[in-house]
Amino acid sequence: MRPAVEADPSSPILSVRGVGKRFGGFTALQDVDLTVSAGERIGLIGPNGSGKSTFVNCLTGALTPEAGSIVFDGHEVSRLPAWQRARRGLVRSFQIPRPFKRMSVVENVQVPLRFARSEPRSGSSEQEALEILARVGLAGRGSASPKDLSQVELRKLELARALAANPRLLIADEAMAGLSDSEVDEIVEVLEQLSRDGITIILIEHIMRAVMRFSERIVVLVAGRKVADGDPATVMRQADVVEAYLGQ
Ligand code: ADP
Ligand code: MG
Repeated sequence: MRPAVEADPSSPILSVRGVGKRFGGFTALQDVDLTVSAGERIGLIGPNGSGKSTFVNCLTGALTPEAGSIVFDGHEVSRLPAWQRARRGLVRSFQIPRPFKRMSVVENVQVPLRFARSEPRSGSSEQEALEILARVGLAGRGSASPKDLSQVELRKLELARALAANPRLLIADEAMAGLSDSEVDEIVEVLEQLSRDGITIILIEHIMRAVMRFSERIVVLVAGRKVADGDPATVMRQADVVEAYLGQ
């Protein structure tokens, strides 16, 4: 775990300015700004196709935006490859977990532990991987095969794999889709604990109950533009947001 206290707590951990992304003639993101302070819990919402995953891909380096700047922890990262951003602590989890099926659960966490980090690790990565599994509620499941995990356990493993990269900012892209109410609560509880551990979190989610429970601030994308950004109660009252959801 990195120390929760930053050198300069007043400067944002993430500062996005004017990000734009096109696919051919289609504008997926236009002039998106976002400032995130260290330790914040942000909910990023918007209708299907509004550009949420594209935004995450631009932040983490899977896509290169045509316009704008992305400053993470004081460094412009918008031209860095994804692995360099991950090593700085800008990490995402994926919507659809794709564990290595032939490896055990703990080995699935050891892989990113070994490769995502800048400093060579001494000691046992297995011990550290088991500790990460415990943080996501998978204590005792290390020797299982991913094939034997339930849906909610697979989502937890996906979070564990992201945690292995030692994130300072973790972006969870629809980590709860398709889960039952109680399973959604389990994932929210894991994310709340990671937040208490000092990790800044952006939660992308359609399940509004989870978004409202987790987020201290909500950002709304509609058709590639940010249409709202503020405290949850105020944002949810805003006419554009109501319209975007009712019109879905
Ligand atoms: P969300 O995550 O909010 O559902 P996405 O960011 O996945 O939305 O998609 C935003 C829009 O960009 C959609 O219309 C989608 O079809 C389009 N899009 C996303 N990725 C690509 C791509 N690689 N090539 C072409 N169009 C894309
Ligand atoms: Mg998406």
